[in-house]
Amino acid sequence: MDLYEYQARDLFDKHKVPVLKGVVATSPTQAEQAASTLGGTVVVKAQVKVGGRGKAGGVKLAHSPQEAADAADAILGLNIKGHVVRKVMVAEGADIAEEYYFSILLDRTKRRYMAMLSKEGGVEIEQLAKERPEALVRRNFSPLDGMTDTLAREMAQEAGFDDEDVKKLVPVFKKLYDVYTSEDATLVEVNPLVKTASGEILALDGKVSLDDNARFRHPEHSELEDHSAVNPLELKAQKMGLNYVKLDGSVGIIGNGAGLVMSTLDVVAYAGEDLPGQPKPANFLDIGGGANAEVMANGLEVILGDDQVKSVFVNVFGGITACDEVAKGIVQAYRILEADGITPKPLVVRLDGNNAEKGRQILDEANVPGLQREDTMDSAARAAAELAADNN
Ligand code: GDP
Ligand code: MN
Repeated sequence: MDLYEYQARDLFDKHKVPVLKGVVATSPTQAEQAASTLGGTVVVKAQVKVGGRGKAGGVKLAHSPQEAADAADAILGLNIKGHVVRKVMVAEGADIAEEYYFSILLDRTKRRYMAMLSKEGGVEIEQLAKERPEALVRRNFSPLDGMTDTLAREMAQEAGFDDEDVKKLVPVFKKLYDVYTSEDATLVEVNPLVKTASGEILALDGKVSLDDNARFRHPEHSELEDHSAVNPLELKAQKMGLNYVKLDGSVGIIGNGAGLVMSTLDVVAYAGEDLPGQPKPANFLDIGGGANAEVMANGLEVILGDDQVKSVFVNVFGGITACDEVAKGIVQAYRILEADGITPKPLVVRLDGNNAEKGRQILDEANVPGLQREDTMDSAARAAAELAADNN
């Protein structure tokens, strides 16, 4: 999960990285109030999860609350590289003397962390790395060692900082490493890290990505999630613990096992190619191993909640989960949905593998309206695509 700048600022603050005060605003009036609370010169900054906001007109200095309101008015609604600005951060203004770059990230190929530092920050770092690679100091280090005083000092010296600056920078790098490890981040980037006219070091713009696989250790991170950007169906599926990704087509897909679901998407897309409207998969949904009736009902409920869906394809290969259990699950799921008043859409089911015969029999005997049983994945994909085609 990538964080907004203001969220990164808050995490920095929590771990005592020096930052300036910042307040989020969603309207010019709020920005004006924030500016008068902060006092003095402020910066109004677009909150979008994309770099280069400055160049795109998304960062403006304001010398009065009225100017802050005007800046917010100009920035809110801007489209920066496809991201529409819905929030701004009004932050205390810094009197910048120099701009640096610092980051810590996970170097997967080396199986180490990597820290990068440059005296020439503020600019786009990819450009610097390409044009003047010698100006960017990179050091791999082991998580067992962490960001030691020695490493921090050596990096700063190599980057060309004088003794006085080195002394100020070392603790800041160590605190940023605290953010990296204790928040389970995969990236902590500060660009620019600045020295003010009075010689103070400040993290002025932060970018943090958190490791979603470590979410169980950080219940507090769920607050950082941006629900406005998440698809409502995906949010619903997430709450039900389902592995669901919304796609743009009209054939709902349910399968067991990520590999089977992936190939089901391909087969359905292929089957739809020659049909009117070229129906495509509407989603990815893996119900995993122990697919009981409740999981099946939840999955169907999410898929049927998608207005784009015209037909549903349930593709199950029985392994540890036997097909008769899955069949019972489908039948029960339909009864649950019926009771909930949710209108089912045409459903094509292919069951194969462990106890397939028994499963098919259960489906045949249950007489679920709109349910069509197919014996192979190809024929089932074709049937589901045809049901979702334009002439249907
Ligand atoms: P980005 O363009 O998305 O990376 O946004 P930044 O937050 O890094 O801001 C871009 C540039 O705006 C910085 O490199 C600074 O030069 C300038 N800037 C940002 N905050 C301040 C501030 O408080 N005072 C001054 N004078 N300039 C700032
Ligand atoms: Mn920046």
